[in-house]
Amino acid sequence: MAKQPAANYDIVVVGTGIAGLSAALAAAEMGDRVALLEKGKKLGGGTSLSYGGFWIGNNHLAEQDGEKDDLEQVLSYIRYMSGGYSDEAKMLAYATRGAEALRFFEACGVRLHVTRGLTDHYWGVAPGARAAGRHLDPDLTSIRTLGPWQDKIFIPRDQPTEMTLEEVIEWGGITDPANWNWELIGKRRQDGMLGRGTAVVVHFVRELLSRNVDIRIEAAVARLTESNGRIDGAELDNGEVVRARKGVVLATGGYDSNHEMAEHLEGLPGWLTQFPDTLTGDHLRIAGERGAQTRTIHHNFSVFLGFHVPKVHPEDNILFRQASICEMLCPHTIVVNRDGRRFGDEAYFQALVPRLREYDMNKRRHVNLPCFLIFDQQYADAFSFAYRPAGAPIPDWVARADTLEKLGGLLGVDGAGLATTAERFNGFARKGVDEDFRRGAASWTLASAEVWKNKGENRDEPNPRLGTVRVAPFYGIELHPSCFVSHGLLTDANAQVVHQRGKPIPGLYAVGNAAAHTEYGIGYQAGFSLGSAMTFGYLAACHMRDLAPNHKPGDAHEDLAFPDTAARNLG
Ligand SMILES: Cc1cc2nc3c(=O)[nH]c(=O)nc-3n(C[C@H](O)[C@H](O)[C@H](O)COP(=O)(O)OP(=O)(O)OC[C@H]3O[C@@H](n4cnc5c(N)ncnc54)[C@H](O)[C@@H]3O)c2cc1C
Repeated sequence: MAKQPAANYDIVVVGTGIAGLSAALAAAEMGDRVALLEKGKKLGGGTSLSYGGFWIGNNHLAEQDGEKDDLEQVLSYIRYMSGGYSDEAKMLAYATRGAEALRFFEACGVRLHVTRGLTDHYWGVAPGARAAGRHLDPDLTSIRTLGPWQDKIFIPRDQPTEMTLEEVIEWGGITDPANWNWELIGKRRQDGMLGRGTAVVVHFVRELLSRNVDIRIEAAVARLTESNGRIDGAELDNGEVVRARKGVVLATGGYDSNHEMAEHLEGLPGWLTQFPDTLTGDHLRIAGERGAQTRTIHHNFSVFLGFHVPKVHPEDNILFRQASICEMLCPHTIVVNRDGRRFGDEAYFQALVPRLREYDMNKRRHVNLPCFLIFDQQYADAFSFAYRPAGAPIPDWVARADTLEKLGGLLGVDGAGLATTAERFNGFARKGVDEDFRRGAASWTLASAEVWKNKGENRDEPNPRLGTVRVAPFYGIELHPSCFVSHGLLTDANAQVVHQRGKPIPGLYAVGNAAAHTEYGIGYQAGFSLGSAMTFGYLAACHMRDLAPNHKPGDAHEDLAFPDTAARNLG
């Protein structure tokens, strides 16, 4: 194919999730000419599907809210969360410069607010954890502000996004959609108002358009170009080259929709994706060809259990229901393995994650995969299953039987074992204490905080995370693992991709899920992913600006380019 002439930019950003959007906006605001390239037909990637939560320590929005945070505490928390799997310089960069990035983007016009009612996951457990102030989510915003670009945003049709996270919590949590204010949601939908991940995308795209950033859809980057040892452009799959004078930022998300790669890199049988089908790990090949190193975060805790909900419209995105933070938080549910045995606190999914990796030497198979969600009619009457209102009929793609023994037979689970497990569990539910796994003891509550709100007073179980599984019919469905990638490109504290020989590759950056999360290691905390992607998107742009031979002091936001004083103060 004849090559087209190259278009010339200062910076080329690949991917339009939070990582790419923040790198592109920061670079444009710093005066660089930016091209933002997206492989899919719409902008937003996995970020559009997200709840839109950002975790940023010691931030000014919390301070305005009366929540005084402290950098030492932030660092203690991230260090604890990382479990020894972090890179100190990158961790320090996230901890100390996340708040700076937040202020920078706020000055650009992106609006976030503190999510009241959401604690740090390990509050009461980890040093430095806080009850409030570090979790942020986007202000509602109108898609109509995007003019002709409004049709180019990926908006998941099957999950409402017209609300803030605080509202979801006030309305009873994500497990209780029947109690949400549907009238308000409907009105906002008519008005084009969005919250959650889609609002994140709209805020950033609006600011990019106002700065004349060239955004291109269906522009899949296939490889990088190089001259004199420096990455100087990206080549699309149609052979077109887009030149980047200062650098290329890979923000292509994970590899979740590349089934073979995901099963191989995660080592968890039965993997299912929860992200759009354009997330196929292209960065590993693209940067691998240039000698990039990768890292795996072993023991990554961000593994969810869930199942695919059959599509209503063929053109919809696959919908992965994160049972880990929905059904499994509610009473009248248990999760069992093939032997019909429980293997952890279902209401705190991170407790199950190490058990999913357990392997039986003699049987030559995983001990707890496959695993199954089991629930009864009490659950079906009172709680939402797979986004349906509480009390709605359980869909026919879920197995059911009038005894647990028979249900086990349908699922390939030892029925006698399942019945014995349920009997023991029911005893715990009546006492209010799970003597095997302490279900309900973890203080992090998120959506389950008010699990019994509006469910009537008439309950005979004293612990809101426990409830007997005893009323027929009994239901069961296989749960599949899915995670926010454990493997990615190795990057340094400036988001530069590191070469096999240990030095950064000049002109090549990776942010978001394309990069290994060595800033927070194994730790899963809601908002780490978006918060750190936004931080490193900003830091990549700062690095290219500072290195740029033609950078003029006095460019926009010079006053916001805070030096590393915070890091220095920590010695
Ligand atoms: C239901 C759900 C809720 C979540 N909630 C939260 C939350 O509240 N907080 C949080 O921190 N995390 C959350 N997450 C995780 C979070 O969504 C992701 O980790 C994050 O969005 C990743 O951002 P990213 O920019 O790295 O990648 P993405 O947002 O996935 O964007 C990557 C983009 O790159 C494009 N691309 C890929 N290959 C190419 C190529 N070759 N050329 C050009 N473009 C390419 C893709 O099409 C895509 O648009 C949630 C995830 C799910 C599924």
